[in-house]
Amino acid sequence: MDRLKIATIWLGGCSGCHMSFLDLDEWLIELVGKAEIVYSPLMDIKEFPKGVDATLVEGAVANKDNLELLRTVRVNSKLIIAFGDCAVTGNVTAMRNIIECPRRALETAYLQLSAGNKSIPNEPGILPELLTPVVPIHQVVAVDAFIPGCPPSAQRIKLALELLLNGQPVILPPEELKFG
Ligand code: SF4
Repeated sequence: MDRLKIATIWLGGCSGCHMSFLDLDEWLIELVGKAEIVYSPLMDIKEFPKGVDATLVEGAVANKDNLELLRTVRVNSKLIIAFGDCAVTGNVTAMRNIIECPRRALETAYLQLSAGNKSIPNEPGILPELLTPVVPIHQVVAVDAFIPGCPPSAQRIKLALELLLNGQPVILPPEELKFG
């Protein structure tokens, strides 16, 4: 039987959800025996592939690059799983929404609060255009399943992946749907 093709992506997030994924430790060996990881920020693959069975999406949609990648993922993935609270609700990434104006957000981060070199990066292509408001992924594309948590525990991620590998709907039990 063909192994499931699984991808992970990282939009507007801190990478903590992917760190928790790595906390699966030795179970990752079992996972790659049953599934093929075909795209991930943990690997050096440049283009999102076609025909992916399931993609775990970390982070909210905060800029144009996030938007473009998420739309590409939707076209090429049977299932999209919101991976962590930023993807599920906007969470920490959406706190930028209180500043409304993207330019003011950049000034706050790079000028006002920076302890070192106070300048906004301006080389061509270095900063994707920020979107306002920052939104959770279900506001952009259809989402098939949710793994809440900031970050979700490795145990919760494992539970979701086991459902996926067993061909069951990725619906976590109520005690695993708590945020935090
Ligand atoms: Fe980071 Fe938490 Fe957002 Fe995951 S949910 S990207 S750990 S802030």
